[in-house]
Amino acid sequence: MSIKYDVMSSKAEEFINDEEIMETLKYAEDNKHNEKLIDEILEKARKKKGLTHREATILLDCDIKEKNEEIFKLAKEIKEEFYGNRIVTFAPLYLSNYCVNGCTYCPYHYKNKHICRKKLTQEEIKREVVALQDLGHKRLALEAGEDPVNNPIEYILESIKTIYSIKHKNGSIRRVNVNIAATTVENYRKLKDAGIGTYILFQETYNKEAYEELHPTGPKHNYAYHTEAMDRAMDGGIDDVGVGVLFGLNLYRYDFTGILMHAEHLEAYKGVGPHTISVPRLRSADDIDPDDFDNGIDDDTFAKIVACLRIAVPYTGMIISTRESKECREKVLNLGISQISGGSKTSVGGYADDEEEEENSAQFELSDNRPLDEVVDWLIGMDYIPSFCTACYREGRTGDRFMQLVKSKQIANCCQPNAIMTLAEYLEDYASEKTRKDGYELIAKEIEKIPSDKMRELVKKNLENIKEGKRDFR
Ligand code: SAM
Repeated sequence: MSIKYDVMSSKAEEFINDEEIMETLKYAEDNKHNEKLIDEILEKARKKKGLTHREATILLDCDIKEKNEEIFKLAKEIKEEFYGNRIVTFAPLYLSNYCVNGCTYCPYHYKNKHICRKKLTQEEIKREVVALQDLGHKRLALEAGEDPVNNPIEYILESIKTIYSIKHKNGSIRRVNVNIAATTVENYRKLKDAGIGTYILFQETYNKEAYEELHPTGPKHNYAYHTEAMDRAMDGGIDDVGVGVLFGLNLYRYDFTGILMHAEHLEAYKGVGPHTISVPRLRSADDIDPDDFDNGIDDDTFAKIVACLRIAVPYTGMIISTRESKECREKVLNLGISQISGGSKTSVGGYADDEEEEENSAQFELSDNRPLDEVVDWLIGMDYIPSFCTACYREGRTGDRFMQLVKSKQIANCCQPNAIMTLAEYLEDYASEKTRKDGYELIAKEIEKIPSDKMRELVKKNLENIKEGKRDFR
């Protein structure tokens, strides 16, 4: 096959370059009806070891009905084989919406004078975390605007320390992921030392020109600094990084190729690809109307993107947030999503204090407003195991150690039992009567699927322990 791409530069910003992306898009456009080539790519994809960005973009563009059916079928198979029916659940925690950037799509932009600015004190963070723990969450994603005066790294570090220190009657928050602006190697090292899970940063768009227009002022304007952030994070010792673009800002085909080139860059130069890919879509917000942006995508295109990413990078987790509706989430869960947020609030202080919503500090409107218990029962109803597991990171299975486990499909042996046990903890401590009943019925079915007799017996024993009040088995 003539698809080749020479690795040209060790710098992310040069590696993910406009010339190669434009060539890829042209190549994909020219070949979107080339059945022979599409069959060759699908044959390679069936080996479940991934595709290059060029190959994956051809699949994305392909509009032959039967081939698209094969693409969706394969995405489902890969999802099933590598991730089973487990869906990891988490919630975002907004620390501060002070921001010095001028992002044109985000209501936190510094010119927005009518949004209510708020930064949580450590006491307020404690209240938020207890409220999140009362819902059953064990895994958080910290969010903050970029503001060196109001939200310096010391504030973020102190907040992480506070979160991990809060002992709840049912145990602590077990994993804190962090989504804050691009920063220095030194600061990434500090985040690593503070015990974060994944460092997440969305590229928003890989198109430099569009990026600079969308970020006209503030430190985020610097495309190179933003694009190189994951390299610095890894240089600072962070093993697990999460990438993503905000679909709706720029042409989706361009950014789809960009994400995959970013993954190739990290794999080639840092030895391990991204831990997760997020697929957020632009939403309405305080002074933001998505219709003002020309590049919105419909649900079918969105599903195709998820399926093609699943095929292209089988070992990378994929995250969908409550920006998407229940119906849309339902459509893409089996195509490749492995993590979802649930019961989320995007306002600062919104978990402990419902009135915050009215105070107008939220980042964007949600499409899925259901409480966590409803989300959990909905997943169970579709035979997914909602998992509150955080074991890999706490057992040091991060970076390439984690990837090796996924690649050898060994991860299923750790994840399935852990998913079942953490779901049982949730059912005991937080679930409504209906969710509890549905959950234990699912567990009874799932337990029998654990291949090893020894492991199955151990899980059964631990489930008894969980019913008696013991927690945190791994
Ligand atoms: N401040 C950090 C930064 O500069 O990257 C990240 C935190 S921000 C709270 C998280 C993400 O929300 C952004 O990266 C952006 O993709 C997304 N976002 C901003 N405005 C949005 C909107 N109107 N709809 C959906 N997502 C939005």
